[in-house]
Amino acid sequence: MNSSKSRKKIVIAIDGFSSCGKSTFAKMIAARLGYIFIDTGAMYRAVTLYALENGAIQNGMVNEQKLKELLDRIAIQFRFNPQRGASDIYVDGEWVEGKIRTIEVSNLVSAVSQIPEVRTKLVAMQQEMGRDKGVVMDGRDIGTVVFPDAELKLFMTADPHIRALRRYEELREKGDNVSLAEIEQNIIDRDRADQSRAISPLRQAEDAVVLDNSYMTLEEQMDWLFRETVLGQLVD
Ligand code: C5P
Repeated sequence: MNSSKSRKKIVIAIDGFSSCGKSTFAKMIAARLGYIFIDTGAMYRAVTLYALENGAIQNGMVNEQKLKELLDRIAIQFRFNPQRGASDIYVDGEWVEGKIRTIEVSNLVSAVSQIPEVRTKLVAMQQEMGRDKGVVMDGRDIGTVVFPDAELKLFMTADPHIRALRRYEELREKGDNVSLAEIEQNIIDRDRADQSRAISPLRQAEDAVVLDNSYMTLEEQMDWLFRETVLGQLVD
């Protein structure tokens, strides 16, 4: 297994469908290369949570005007958590990792992420975080909009039922009492909403390499990455 450091720092953009292990893989790549890992989905989730807690979402409806007014006030920060080997997300100084991955937030996040002002704010933050390169960033529009010149772009996908099962096990382990059917529906709905929105829809960049990890372990994905992509030539 490769344990090398990259000679020249690059940007690795990972996009793809919901719950196909983008963040887990991105975090592992970042650890291997000594790069910073940025989970941009966590940022859209954090804005959704803030909207929920500050009255910009009521009865499942997003009040766009109110959310736009709140946007300037939302202070999003990442702080490295050595136990997790990745950065945790904070909103106004509050650790919100534990609150942003609930099914409630998952069901609302696509409606929030299609608001142009939300995207403008978060994309600018993401570009700033990746300015010095040496980042692995995962999301839906990283290779197409945030870093169209990224040196390595991956587009990840997996069978929707397998994705739902993985997410189900993850949430059950955390004690979340959610059904497999509800998760599968959420994944299907989010993929549809993310692909069909007017601004920065989820799509594969022309120069992205596709990874279907339905039947692959993380180790197999890592071997594939160094064998089949430019990364193998970029490391010592
Ligand atoms: O990656 P994750 O599933 O946590 O993302 C949650 C949601 O945030 C996505 O379903 C999508 O609506 C939105 N998102 C986005 N652009 C990104 C990352 C996430 O629109 N770059």
